[in-house]
Amino acid sequence: MSDCIFCKIANGEIKSETVYEDDTVRAFRDLSPQAPEHILIVPKEHIANIAEFNSEDGELAAHIFTEVIPKLARDLNIAGKGFRLVINTGEDGGQTVNHLHVHLLGGRKMTWPPG
Ligand code: AMP
Repeated sequence: MSDCIFCKIANGEIKSETVYEDDTVRAFRDLSPQAPEHILIVPKEHIANIAEFNSEDGELAAHIFTEVIPKLARDLNIAGKGFRLVINTGEDGGQTVNHLHVHLLGGRKMTWPPG
């Protein structure tokens, strides 16, 4: 999508502090980190949010959750102590960038409930 900032980051048009990339996904550091490790995992394909997911996205979802995230957690050394995944969705969910992204937060103890 031409006016989507995460499309531009995902395809390399806008630079980011990338920590992982493959054919379908890019993971990069959040500009405004909320934890010592704060990574955004985005599909390269424009999908607005998780409410737009359908059965055709099963392979992508499995890739993100069974391969990319566990690998990032190991590489960032937070797999053992733990981390938090957040997917803000839509207005009430607090989503500010309308391109699906998973927040991976770690390196500190998280609290609950979130704000
Ligand atoms: P959300 O509120 O869940 O939509 O999250 C959007 C996130 O994107 C926020 O944590 C922002 O700090 C982050 N963000 C926005 N623009 C950029 C950018 N150019 N590079 C890295 N992170 C960004």
